[in-house]
This record gives sequence, C-alpha cells and structure tokens, in this order.
Amino acid sequence: MDTNRILILGGGFGGLEAAVRLREALPESAEVTLIDRSDSFVIGSRNIDVLAGQETPAGVRHSYRPLRERGVHVVQDAILEIDPHSSRVRTERATWSYDYLLVGLGAELAPEATPGFAERGHHFYNPEAAGRLHDKLRTLESGTLVLSIFGAPYRCPPAPFEGVVAIDSVLRELGTRDQIDIVVTVPGSAPLPFSPETSELVQNQLSKRNIEIQTDRQIAGLRPAQTPANDAGDSRTVVEFADGSQMEADLFAGVPLHRPPQVVRDSPLGNGAWAEVDRHTLATSFDNVFAAGDCAAIGDGNVTVPKAGVFAEESARVASEHIAARIQGQEATAEFRGEGACYFQLPSGEVAALRASFFGGPTPQVRLEGPSQALRAEKKEFIAERVERWFGGAGATQ
Ligand SMILES: Cc1cc2nc3c(=O)[nH]c(=O)nc-3n(C[C@H](O)[C@H](O)[C@H](O)COP(=O)(O)OP(=O)(O)OC[C@H]3O[C@@H](n4cnc5c(N)ncnc54)[C@H](O)[C@@H]3O)c2cc1C
Repeated sequence: MDTNRILILGGGFGGLEAAVRLREALPESAEVTLIDRSDSFVIGSRNIDVLAGQETPAGVRHSYRPLRERGVHVVQDAILEIDPHSSRVRTERATWSYDYLLVGLGAELAPEATPGFAERGHHFYNPEAAGRLHDKLRTLESGTLVLSIFGAPYRCPPAPFEGVVAIDSVLRELGTRDQIDIVVTVPGSAPLPFSPETSELVQNQLSKRNIEIQTDRQIAGLRPAQTPANDAGDSRTVVEFADGSQMEADLFAGVPLHRPPQVVRDSPLGNGAWAEVDRHTLATSFDNVFAAGDCAAIGDGNVTVPKAGVFAEESARVASEHIAARIQGQEATAEFRGEGACYFQLPSGEVAALRASFFGGPTPQVRLEGPSQALRAEKKEFIAERVERWFGGAGATQ
C-alpha cells in the first residue's frame, strides 16, 4: 500500500475519536496527523465542574501527548485556510497536503455578537471562563443573577441547566443563596423545546430550588445601569430583550451565540455556514474530504442533530470507517444514526439522560430516562471510557 496522508483538523470529541480509530485500523505506512491550536483537550461537561469549584481550569485539560506515543502525529498550530480544490490546508507555520481530510473544528463562540456581553457578561463554555464565573460568584453577596440562553444552536442543550444547578449549589455553600434571586431566560417556548417531558423535569427541578425560568425571552443586549456602583465598583447590568422589556442583574451569565469556525465559514466546505455533509457518511462534496461533529450541519433538511460530544464522536467514527475502507479498497457500511445519550446532573445529585435516536427509525426519538443514581454512574463511566480510549487512561494535565 502506498503512503496515505490523513489529516485531521481539530482534536476534540470528533478529531480524537477519528485519530484513534484510524491509527488502529491502518498500517504504519498510513500517516495520521492531527492539528489543533491547543496542546490539550477538555471534555465539555468538565466545564461545569470548574464552575462548581470542584476543579481548576488546568485540572480538566488532557494533554495530547499520549496520542503521540500511540503513533498519531500531533501538531500544535492554528489552521488558517482549507482549500479542498488543491487538497491543501494552510496553518500559521506550514502548508499541508493530504490524501484524506477530516474536519472536526467544533463550533466557535461569538460573545461579541450580543451587544454588551463581552464587556458585562460571563459564561462557562470553556474552563477559563467557567473559573472566572466561579470567582465572581464568591464575591456576589445579594441581588439578582440572570442566566440567559441567547439562541440555538449551542453546545449540549441541557448544559445551561446543569450550569445553573452548579451556580445554585455554590451560592448555597457560600451561604448567600437566600439573598440572591436566580432567573434563567430562554429564547423558546420551553427550556428544551424538542423534549416536552425533559422541559417539565427541568422546570420542576429548578422551581424546587427557587430558580425562576422565563420562556420566550430573546436577548437584545446588555448595558450598564444608571444605578450607583456597588462596593466592588461594579454597576448593575440592564438586560434588554427584543420585545422592549428589561430586567436588572447584579451578575449576568449567558450561553454565547455559537457559529461555524471561521476557517470553515471561509472555505468552500461551509460557504459562510456550517460544513455541508451527507448525513449518512459525513462526506462533503469534495473527494475524500469529510466533516464531523459540531462544525458540520448533520441532518436531512427536517432534523439537524444537536451539537454534542456524543454525536461528534459517532459522526467521526463513521467518517473514519469510510476513510479506512477507501484506503483498504473495501466497501464501508457504517452509517450515521444520531444515536446517543446526553447526561445532566440534577440538584439531588442524581443524573437524568436524554437518549436520542435521530435517524435510527422512521421518526426522530428523544427519550428521557431517570433521574437515578445508576445514570450518575453511567455518566462517570462515559467520561472514564473516553479518557482511556483517547489518552490511554492518562488523567487531566498529564
Ligand atoms: C459546558 C458544556 C457541557 C457539555 N456537556 C456535554 C455532555 O454532557 N455531553 C455531550 O455529548 N456533549 C457535551 N458538551 C458538548 C461537547 O463538548 C461538544 O459538542 C463537543 O466537544 C464537540 O466535539 P467536536 O469534535 O465537534 O469539537 P470540539 O470538541 O469543540 O473540538 C474542536 C477542536 O478544534 C480546535 N480548533 C478550532 N478551530 C481551530 C483552528 N482554526 N486551528 C486549530 N485548531 C482549531 C479547537 O481547539 C478544538 O480542540 C458540552 C459542552 C459544554 C461547553
């Protein structure tokens, strides 16, 4: 077999799964190269542990080093341009040619797309931001905390509700919760519009904790209030909604708008949007070029799968099987079904799971399971399995 150069862009849920699968499936003569601008990976749900103060930002990062020991060529560099016409990728330090390309660049946060948010808002969609929000909670003594979802799609639909549970727990531990009102605003008619039973569970669990949810609240922007600065020198924040109404917050957290990564938007794979793929195989319209995970719009026109690690992993697995089969001159049968579970932790410490099968049957199914302690163990196992498979069990920061 001639040398085959496989280039994987992005070392997230998708890129890691593809790198490990392809390395296992192919002989050493195939080069598997993974490029990421970071030197480490964070499992999305571990951001909540940082917000809760159970972990430090550095403590949830897994170094890519163990992948090198397993024969994956890992390059830390920023990708600047994808040119599928010439089969080249340009990074800050080099230009790469490939025989097979898998793009797994995730979703980009766009905090500046919501006026005033970059200056006045906090979030927990990366470990450093989650750490800053945790520190801010420690200085808040009274008033109103507002947590808003700005719009879909965003990563892991239940994550904001897990986040507010973590916030509530931190404030209870600090003894300030009774002096602080917590309000969650969502842009749609329910917390999780695609699953009425999960929305009901979320509403019930949050109201037990005295957390108010307001629906149909589209954020227009944030601005400083005219009220005098507090002892810490912060003014309150006015949260402005699209219908002209407002509320004031002493601390504002939001789920920033997500958009396709710039290199995908700027390339013919995205043409200004998420990468277009065949939802069965994850192939793009370019020869031997695949896109998987959050950076792709994976759907059939009626349904697009949510942006979540489970689907990023499944889509990358399917794409890798197609790449490996082409290299080995075989026919691939793998097909993306959009099947997996998203877990979320409730105030009781139990875990509920949203089990989905978007394309496994005649209609998309999303089923709520639990909450239970058994699902808490299953969630722990889900994380441990990935750490074992991708990093040979090496813990965070090793
Ligand atoms: C708070 C939170 C909780 C979550 N909880 C869950 C959960 O419980 N279950 C679940 O399934 N999912 C969860 N998710 C979602 C999950 O983390 C993502 O959907 C998943 O990581 C997507 O995988 P991906 O491979 O598509 O992209 P990512 O994992 O985001 O990886 C993309 C990679 O590309 C790299 N990259 C991007 N642009 C460039 C560039 N120009 N140059 C070089 N490198 C680049 C990035 O550094 C990154 O490493 C959660 C997310 C968050 C934020």
